Amino acid sequence: MIDFKVTQIKLIESYKRLLKHPKVDVIYYKWLKDSIDNASYCTNIVVLESEAGKLVRSRTKTCKLPLCPICAKKRSEDNQKDVLETMNEIEKEDPNLRYIHIVLTVKNVVGEELDETINKLNGRHGAFNRFIREKEVKSVVKGWYKAIEVNTNFKARNFQLHIHLLMAVDKSYFDEKKGCIDQNKKEWSKLWKKALKINYLPSVSVKKIEKCKDEEDNVEETMTLEVAIVAVTKQSAELNDYIIDYDDKERLEKLRNDGYKRVVVKTRKQSEEMTDFAVYYLHRAFRGLRRHSAGGIIKEKLAEIKKRKKN
Ligand SMILES: [Zn+2]
Repeated sequence: MIDFKVTQIKLIESYKRLLKHPKVDVIYYKWLKDSIDNASYCTNIVVLESEAGKLVRSRTKTCKLPLCPICAKKRSEDNQKDVLETMNEIEKEDPNLRYIHIVLTVKNVVGEELDETINKLNGRHGAFNRFIREKEVKSVVKGWYKAIEVNTNFKARNFQLHIHLLMAVDKSYFDEKKGCIDQNKKEWSKLWKKALKINYLPSVSVKKIEKCKDEEDNVEETMTLEVAIVAVTKQSAELNDYIIDYDDKERLEKLRNDGYKRVVVKTRKQSEEMTDFAVYYLHRAFRGLRRHSAGGIIKEKLAEIKKRKKN
């Protein structure tokens, strides 16, 4: 079990070490100072609201920092609930819809290029917006929900960026193509290449979402809606991508066996250096980041649900 309060303390310690980092300029120094203050207060202060001498509401103050483990967990859970409710209502209203999950990637980038690459992908005039407006995409997609995610490659000292996309498509999309995912994959990849304005074919993964998944289904080509919802509502970086806690042996072991990461952490100093490397770049890159967005029927339904909850 991850102790989120402990991980938050590790994050604050990293911010403090970064104050002395030679690359930190005056502006970044001020952000870090503010972040230390805000994260230290996160969920520690109870704000009491009163009217005419009577307590009407109490709430805990949160820092809302992109990397704060406590806030990130809360955000993920809230997002997950909203999107799940949205998808359930859409499904009830139109059982003929089908869904796919796509992962759009780009080549790994070094830390210095992270901000710019995120902007190129995720910005208002970024590749994703061009991609989703392509006529081939618009003609099949009825609604979408997306998340941008960054993984840290501690070994290669760079970052892997990708976009998770859950899309509602017309039933005919699968009828015509007879579920030929491979062919679709190439088509999606070409469209993503065009949107990125690059000269290589980027890696794209496409999975059909099975409404009722059975054991026989090919795991390479299919997934359940629940798994897809978790993927698109996740935070932009997982804890193992920026907080290496030397005292958490269970997580260190996981890191040692974790896919491409496979890093062996031998000393406390090494764990702090790795944490500071990731926090330095991610804290900066995630400032003001629009992690999630939606379009079409998913956007409409989501707005409806959020409005209903407010009232
Ligand atoms: Zn927080």
